[in-house]
Amino acid sequence: MRLHAGGVCHSDLNAIDGTAETRCPAVLGHEGAGVVEAVGEGVALRPGTRVLLSWLPSCGVCEECRRDLTHLCTAAWAAMDAGGLLDGTPRLSRDGESVYHYSLLSTFAERAVVPARCCIPMPDGVPFDVAALVGCAVTTGTGAVWRTAHVRPGDRVAVFGCGGVGLSAILGAVAVGADPIVAVDVAPAKLETALALGATHAVEWADGPDETAEIVFAAAGGGVDHAVEATGRTEAARAAFLSTRARGAAVLVGIPAAGAEITLPALSIPRLERRVLGSIYGSARPERDFPELLRLYARGRLPLDRLITARLPLDAVGDAFGLLRDGNPGRVVLDLDAVAA
Ligand SMILES: [Zn+2]
Ligand SMILES: [Zn+2]
Repeated sequence: MRLHAGGVCHSDLNAIDGTAETRCPAVLGHEGAGVVEAVGEGVALRPGTRVLLSWLPSCGVCEECRRDLTHLCTAAWAAMDAGGLLDGTPRLSRDGESVYHYSLLSTFAERAVVPARCCIPMPDGVPFDVAALVGCAVTTGTGAVWRTAHVRPGDRVAVFGCGGVGLSAILGAVAVGADPIVAVDVAPAKLETALALGATHAVEWADGPDETAEIVFAAAGGGVDHAVEATGRTEAARAAFLSTRARGAAVLVGIPAAGAEITLPALSIPRLERRVLGSIYGSARPERDFPELLRLYARGRLPLDRLITARLPLDAVGDAFGLLRDGNPGRVVLDLDAVAA
């Protein structure tokens, strides 16, 4: 397929930094949208179809898929770790040596060979850059709020970490009428963005998790029902848990380093019925949820374009990671047409 836009996600940075183990050499990038150019045998998609990419093509037959947990598909996760496509082999090479795919996609490129099951057709009129974000950050953030936590109108929500996923969680919380919505971050600029997107309160990370949780707890009027953690830092996970009120849940979305552990006050779990929920890819089902998200965007009910604060050409991908490292408020996208021109 010909890619027109790609999002730059923190997981790509984790692959570069070595925080997450990734088979190398690899072409990174796992948010993208573009147009199908050619298809393999038996593929129903027609060339010319506008698609956005899901990095989680469920197999439909493994135990998790049969339990209706397609986002936990064991076949897809195993293939992803191996760095090939679904048949285990890569389609990329350099000087005769294999180059591996990142998350089955590798979207930091003008063209990509991807599994047909990763392609979700998108409506006309939706820009490619907005669609690209739906492929990871938006689905992860809104899905954590809607599908994992089942946030209801009037529920109190806190969001720790206001990057692309955290801001998407805030948009999701706004859309269902959560109130208050407390945004937490170390960077004042990111908190400004969170407030502009509908957070009702902003809390700057204090000395430690317990101190920060105390401020969030008070700002929410006595603890939150759902505390979404979108940084992957264990101290933020602890703060999220401590911010919850009785029957509240910490919703852990951020990916911690392998082997990381979290310490929590155990008594409060049974005594207050506090809970910890894990959420990957927003517990989503791309075939159902991507078109729904884009429809809400097209109707003006989910302002996903406001997440994008920088657009760069493909050869400036290094600068894009620089912006991410520097705490750029909002999402950086690559305009893959800027290169072809
Ligand atoms: Zn991502
Ligand atoms: Zn499966």
